[in-house]
Amino acid sequence: MTPKARIEKILIVGGGTAGWMTAAAMSKILKNRLCDITLIESDAIGTVGVGEATIPQIGTFNRTLGLDEDEFVRRTEGTFKLGIEFVDWGRKGQRYIHPFGPYGLDMEGVSFHAFFLKRHPHASAEDLARYSLQSVAAKKNLFMRPVNAGNSPLSSIAYAFHFDAGLYAAFLREQAEGRGVTRREGRIEEVKLDSENGFVRAVRLESGEELEADLFIDCTGFRGLIIEEALKTGYNDWSHWLPVNRAVAIPCESDGPPIPYTRATARDAGWQWRIPLQHRIGNGHVYADGFTSEDEATETLLANLPGQPLAEPRHLRFLTGHRKAFWVKNCVAIGLSAGFLEPLESTSIHLIQSGIAKLLQMFPTCGFDQAEIDRFNRLSTFEFERIRDFLILHYHATQRDDTEFWNYVRTMSIPDYLKDKLALYRTHGRVFRENDELFNDTSWFSVLIGQNIVPEDYDPVADVLSREETEAKLDNIRRTIATCTEHMPPHERFIAEHCASG
Ligand code: FAD
Repeated sequence: MTPKARIEKILIVGGGTAGWMTAAAMSKILKNRLCDITLIESDAIGTVGVGEATIPQIGTFNRTLGLDEDEFVRRTEGTFKLGIEFVDWGRKGQRYIHPFGPYGLDMEGVSFHAFFLKRHPHASAEDLARYSLQSVAAKKNLFMRPVNAGNSPLSSIAYAFHFDAGLYAAFLREQAEGRGVTRREGRIEEVKLDSENGFVRAVRLESGEELEADLFIDCTGFRGLIIEEALKTGYNDWSHWLPVNRAVAIPCESDGPPIPYTRATARDAGWQWRIPLQHRIGNGHVYADGFTSEDEATETLLANLPGQPLAEPRHLRFLTGHRKAFWVKNCVAIGLSAGFLEPLESTSIHLIQSGIAKLLQMFPTCGFDQAEIDRFNRLSTFEFERIRDFLILHYHATQRDDTEFWNYVRTMSIPDYLKDKLALYRTHGRVFRENDELFNDTSWFSVLIGQNIVPEDYDPVADVLSREETEAKLDNIRRTIATCTEHMPPHERFIAEHCASG
């Protein structure tokens, strides 16, 4: 093809979560009127096989596809998620929830955090949790979707899902194939580049067959078959800031009703996830191989499983960072092929969704516009960097000094953006969300207070109310939230009534 031709054929290379999310979204939005879409995957290679916790934005993606939420939860053995509980991060023995949704109620234009710090100068995670409906409900194992209840927090319950990613991909495959996407099975052996302009011309399968396309979407996972192996894009490695680089995962039997939150428990050289599904619990130990061995990491996980293991340990390696460019010539990388930020805040599936959304916004219907490609790359880099800084915060804002790993992350130098953000916060508790960064002030505040980083003083803007008025307002918020949770059913009952997999 010539770079200026109209895009008629799209080849999605890879059929993990990234490939099938891309196929489902493209077939829905482009409606196959403009392009012919083929997805190729290799059962022999398989998928990464982890990735079960999400953030609320996934709801928007599913609604865009027209998925029925109950059916989606049922088909994926899903459960609901109100936030993440962090155990032993600030200090051993402490825990806090990073909830979805804001703290407080309508604060009439003044940040909730200002009033909160005025009322609680020695703020603790327990104090803060009582101002979040999601935190209170999570700890009581309650869940319901928002209802139409005027100004009540019950009108705006924010939630995400835990689900079996393999079942999600299969569900999306059904949707995509139903809308005309062609699936091909086979292992790609070679990527053929145009000798004149370096664009990707075709991929050659084991069978010798060549598949040509105008636009290639690389969803081949960590290896980046096209974006890296063929186009040699290069990688920004962030492992000096985020040194965990391996994981061992083992599903186990459920130990009781599913909790409506993910749990992330800090370990000596990393942390352990616990993700409740309807039919099992997903567990994994993410660790830094510079600070512990594979055997030790596996033993730690086995010793802390909440139920009987259901499979052998699965070992994974990764490198935190991203491709130097996400879109190069006629190839766009989506999913793990684009980069990887460790799963501490469940952001990878969101990054897939966001990559797809950007690609659709800048879809090259008539050839490739370098200015748009540059914009895509700039926005993607910004998104990765801001999530990176939020992840680093969890490690750096610790008082733990009991292992080499925690000493390293507590004392390491951090990116300037994070340094500035922390400096601003430390004086008057101010946290600003810049541009379209993913995590807002609620998220930052929950981790900072949760890990014992309390500012020197409250923001003087809170003096718009007297001390007595502030106390009365915050007491009222706590009461309202406590009363609201009395109307919420147990998470398990909500699933049984709406979306049990049977
Ligand atoms: P893969 O699943 O690796 O799929 C790659 C596809 O490419 C496969 O279909 C494969 O067959 C195909 N392929 C590769 N090479 C070839 C070839 N030569 N020929 C043909 N086909 C080929 N994300 C979250 O949002 N939440 C989480 O809780 C979470 N936890 C995670 C925990 C860990 C330890 C890791 C490593 C990741 C986690 N993720 C999580 C990330 C999540 O797993 C991925 O973002 C998601 O699964 C997407 O993967 P993918 O589709 O890009 O790659």
